[in-house]
Formats: sequence, C-alpha cells, structure tokens
Amino acid sequence: MNSHDIYAQLGISPAVLNFGEKILGEIRGQFERIEAIAEYNQAKVIGAMQKNRVNATHFNMSTGYGYDDDGRDNLERVYADCFHTEAALVRPQIACGTAALALALGANLLPGDELLSPVGSPYDTLEEVIGIRPSPCSLKEYGVSYAQVDLKEDNSFDYEGIRRAINEKTKLITIQRSKGYATRPSFSVAQIGELIAFCKRCKPDVLCMVDNCYGEFVEELEPSDVGADMVVGSLIKNLGGGLAPTGGYICGKKACIDRCAFRLSAPGLGREVGANLGLLTSFYQGLFLSPTVVASAVKGAVFAAAAYEKLGFRVVPESREVRRDIIQAVELGSREGMIAFCKGIQSAAPVDSYVTPEPWAMPGYDSDVIMAAGAFVQGASIELSADGPIREPYAVYFQGGLTWYHAKLGILMSLQKMLDAGLINL
Ligand SMILES: *Cc1c(COP(=O)(O)O)cnc(C)c1O
Repeated sequence: MNSHDIYAQLGISPAVLNFGEKILGEIRGQFERIEAIAEYNQAKVIGAMQKNRVNATHFNMSTGYGYDDDGRDNLERVYADCFHTEAALVRPQIACGTAALALALGANLLPGDELLSPVGSPYDTLEEVIGIRPSPCSLKEYGVSYAQVDLKEDNSFDYEGIRRAINEKTKLITIQRSKGYATRPSFSVAQIGELIAFCKRCKPDVLCMVDNCYGEFVEELEPSDVGADMVVGSLIKNLGGGLAPTGGYICGKKACIDRCAFRLSAPGLGREVGANLGLLTSFYQGLFLSPTVVASAVKGAVFAAAAYEKLGFRVVPESREVRRDIIQAVELGSREGMIAFCKGIQSAAPVDSYVTPEPWAMPGYDSDVIMAAGAFVQGASIELSADGPIREPYAVYFQGGLTWYHAKLGILMSLQKMLDAGLINL
C-alpha cells in the first residue's frame, strides 16, 4: 500500500495530498533550519543529563513531604544547566503556566514595588494575577503597582517610554516572548536580550523575567542566555515534550528561585518539600523529547502558513518568516472557514477524533469560541490543537503536534474539510 492509499483511508483526497506535496517542496529549506536547531537543543539536553549523571534512581517516586528527593533535585539541576542558570524549580505542584508566572511574580515583588511590562499588555490570564482586572489575591491587592509601556506603531520597543517608566519603585520587568493570542509579532531571543540590556542600563538592579511559554527550544538560545533573571513556563507546553501530565518551571538566579520555592511551599520550607508523585520519568523523558517535539510543531506551523498563504489567506507569521514560537494564526475570513478548519484538526486527532467541534460561549469572551483538540494530556497545547474567537478577522490559532506527520495530517485534513465545504479551490 502506498501513501496515497493510506491517506485515502483517512479521508484525504488525491487533490489535497498533491497540493500538500507541492507546498512541501517549497518549504524544504526551512525544515533543514528547524532540524538544525532541534539537533543543537537535543545535544544541549543530553549534555545536561550526562553532566548530572542521570540514572534510574532519579525516576523513583516520592510521597508525603518529599524530603531527600534526589530525582527531583537532580531534574532541577538538569533544567538549570539547559537554561544556563544558577537554579531551577520544576514541580508538579506548579499547576500551569499562569501559576508559574504568578509564583515568580508573587515571590519576587513586595508591597510598594512596581511591576513593568515594556511590551504592551500581558497574556489574558495575567490580568487577574496583576490586578489589571480586579481579582482576590492579585498583586495589586498586596500593594504591588503595575505600569505598562506599549509597543510602538511598528511593533518595536518604545525605548524612550521605557526609560521614562522605570522609576525608584520598579522592581521587576516582565517580558512576554510569544505573542500568545495578540496581534503583535513574537520576539526573538536576540530582541529580548537588547531589551533586557537597555532596562539594566536604566536600572542595574532591576529583575527581568521572561514569560517563555511556547518559545522554548524554537531557537538555540533562551532568554536566560541573554540576561533574563528568570524564565518561566508550563510543562504541558514545549518542555514537557507531550509526556509531562502537569507542572511548571522557573529557571533563573538562585536568589529569585529560592524565593519562588519559599512561596510555593512555605517560608522556611522552600525547595526541600514537595513530593514528585511518580511523575519524574515523564518530566525527564519529556524534556529529552522536547527538542524534536518542538521541531515537529514548528514544521506544522510553517506548513500551515505556506498552504493557506498559497490559497490567498492572511497568515501570521508568513511562511518564510523565521519562527519565534510554535503558534500560527490563519485568518479564514468567515465563521464557516473556522468551523471547517477546526473540524479538520479534530478529525485528524488520535483521541476524540469522532467528535465535532462547535462554536460555544466561553466565560471571559465576548463572542463564541471554537476549539479543536484531541489530546492525551487534557488541554495540552503542545499537542495538535486549534482555537479562536468567532469574530473578525475570523482567525484560528493553530499550534502543537507531537510528531510532524500528525501535524501534517491535521493540516491536510483541514484543507479537505475546507474543500468539501466549497470554501477553497485547489
Ligand atoms: C499559555 C500561556 C500562558 C499561560 O499558561 P497556562 O498554562 O495556560 O496557564 C502565559 N503566557 C503565554 C505567552 C502563554 O502562551
């Protein structure tokens, strides 16, 4: 049986398959670059594991207080070596990316301090953490103020505005690497490095934290290589490699990470406490797989961009742009387009492929939202998924793919559903 037959069995017509192969021929060069980055990061991860002499005892389960958990402590040394930082906190008790960010901020900001975002508004869920939208236990409630400098018209940093915003109260600067669901471009690590250097010239003792979600291992360098005092993210995104079932990480300066540990468990207890609950194999092995998983997701994003661009849709980023994160936006221009695209992603999934995604009202959104995901780990956006609010410009955000072949199938299936609905011509 050849690949046409197996794809036909999955519901992909020869027309869609041939279109896909033609597109692939045009992006091979990009794939080589993505693979070279994965190779570099794979070596970096293996090197960190070898240096810390990872062995089978490091996968043992701990329960209760988790005292003397050498596997947990060694994993944190491995993370610190991957990110070239003094210390790391990598725990299942950090429930998600937002929890990791809230932890890093809450632990390092005291009443009277000010938090500054020099890159415009932060990720949605941080609005309540900071207190931009009132919430119990927000930083604002604890007397931490917030200032924001928006990007300039051309999406560059407003250095003059940032200089003016940094004052004697400014304690911590938060920089979001990935655009998330905003319309600005994501930042390269080099750009983040320039921004951090500028902020430290304005105020040498200011702390710089980077929200690293969706950006890990997309480049060879991480923000901690260019001056970040803390990098923060979720284990059900890039670094969990699809295996970690929960968790978050913070890597950075020892003084910062120690405070995070005291905030996470309790003052006086810190990093000594926290059972691993048997999750360490998935954390180590997920980190080991992460460079190739991220490469698969990035290839899927580039393929989606190239295919939909060819069909005349606006895509962000464009197919030839160098990737800064794993997210791809495709402006489908209509409700029907979004539904067809998401149906394609859903029906390509290994889990829940038989369900049909429908637009639905969601708390916190002023329009209906559609979501497609068939994941082994609930809500894991390193697994192939697509979502978006049903409103102008009718954009779906597409991300993830544990294997390139699954990401490819998802895009082909989305094209098939668009074709079947009469929304595209090949
Ligand atoms: C996903 C994400 C978060 C929040 O992570 P959750 O795990 O969903 O809480 C924060 N910032 C960015 C840029 C993200 O992509």
